[in-house]
Amino acid sequence: MNILLFGPNGSGKGTQGALLKQKFNLAHIESGAIFREHCGIGTELGKQAKAYMERGDLVPDDITIPMVLETLKSHGEKGWLLDGFPRNLLQAEKLWEAMQASDLTLDYVVEILLPRATAKSRIAGRRICSVDNNHPNNVHIAAIKPEDGKCRVCGGTLSERADDQDENAVNKRHDIYYDEKNGTLAAIRFFQGLAAQGKCRYIALDGQEDINTVKDTLLAELA
Ligand code: AMP
Repeated sequence: MNILLFGPNGSGKGTQGALLKQKFNLAHIESGAIFREHCGIGTELGKQAKAYMERGDLVPDDITIPMVLETLKSHGEKGWLLDGFPRNLLQAEKLWEAMQASDLTLDYVVEILLPRATAKSRIAGRRICSVDNNHPNNVHIAAIKPEDGKCRVCGGTLSERADDQDENAVNKRHDIYYDEKNGTLAAIRFFQGLAAQGKCRYIALDGQEDINTVKDTLLAELA
């Protein structure tokens, strides 16, 4: 089972991703998390990616595309949930090319729909758990509001992501996401086109619903 998960920063993508991962026992491949890990360890890739990430820019395609395709290869057996990639039309085309060349099927493309203004207001409240960055914690969303500054799921230490607190960076990330011509919405349209040809299934979720409703809708759609 191979799944692509799309949603703007702030849409609850991490939460729904964790659900998909658990349900189908998938490798959860998050391009942003891989980059953050490289930055943390200080690898050459991390050094190259850091400045782009801090500004909210995309890391260039010639660094990102090979990195993600290599990671996918190493998780081929188990099936994967790809999150944060593709982020633009070129990445979408390269991913599909690579999948076809390796006879990989694409089972589902899941898109969480959320207006840009709502996504922006949610981002400032997001907190990252040191144990698992998919543990949902947001000081601006009642259902997942952490208590005493600790992770709601495991009690781990919480921190803010620097690029979440920088309004310019948030705006840039959303400029890329909501760009229907070359950005992430263009990548989604590319896969919707494939779905129309019967090559995968496309599922749209209303990200304005509360987390549990979105979860239930997703599970019903997958059944
Ligand atoms: P995220 O955690 O998905 O918000 O990603 C954090 C940052 O990593 C982004 O703002 C980009 O700088 C970089 N990044 C993650 N995924 C990609 C991608 N598919 N293409 C280019 N840059 C990416």
